[in-house]
Amino acid sequence: MVEDDSGLSVDTIAIDGPAASGKTTIGRLLAAKLGYQMLDTGFMYRAATLAALDAGIDVEDETAVTRLAREIELDVRDGARHGDGRLYSALLNGRDVTWQLRDPAVARNVSAVASYLGVRQALVEKQRRFGEQGKVVMVGRDIGTVVFPDARLKLYITATAEERARRRALDNQAQGHGGDVEVILADIKRRDALDSQRKHSPLLPADDAVIIDSSVITPDEIIDQIMGLLDGDGEWR
Ligand code: C5P
Repeated sequence: MVEDDSGLSVDTIAIDGPAASGKTTIGRLLAAKLGYQMLDTGFMYRAATLAALDAGIDVEDETAVTRLAREIELDVRDGARHGDGRLYSALLNGRDVTWQLRDPAVARNVSAVASYLGVRQALVEKQRRFGEQGKVVMVGRDIGTVVFPDARLKLYITATAEERARRRALDNQAQGHGGDVEVILADIKRRDALDSQRKHSPLLPADDAVIIDSSVITPDEIIDQIMGLLDGDGEWR
């Protein structure tokens, strides 16, 4: 992590936003353009949830879930070689769980798991460790507010719930997973409410975040807009 005179992490980009807002797509495009690594932190909360479900732990049992979140080993690998549409491979205790993380049971329970302070502390520590390598685009809900409050650039990507549900349904179809748009919309609205209203690290834009509504502009236009914040040498203006 490189800091400038003002103490800002110049090579850390924080991207936050609600479920299926396009933030992961933007993060991936931006990371490729800048030669940065990307970390989608949602995978960590999903992996902790999957670990709890697999172990038969009640997700309402905060103590047991927190203990598990501290114990699990998480890793990401480049997913391109699999050729099955994954952006990255997610490893939980060394096991490839990329597609299990998309399981509806995980989506149903992840907001409860993500609401626990101890779970958040354990996962934020893993995220900061990853970010210490520098040159990273980190995507989530609280990256600009909590994980890297000194990130040089903070983006908050949003879109209407209907548009987000439509996109998630198309993604699911492309990956051969079904999904009724109305069911997806209901899940997105429920998660928006839980993520925004929770006590610890609620979903909200950082005061200094650039807010982008992806319902009205394409990902390429968004990338152009973001690159406009850089000067010709790739340095921040
Ligand atoms: O981004 P994704 O939909 O995979 O995130 C799954 C869930 O993980 C979110 O609904 C939210 O509850 C939680 N999450 C979080 N903080 C993050 C990333 C995800 O609370 N930084």
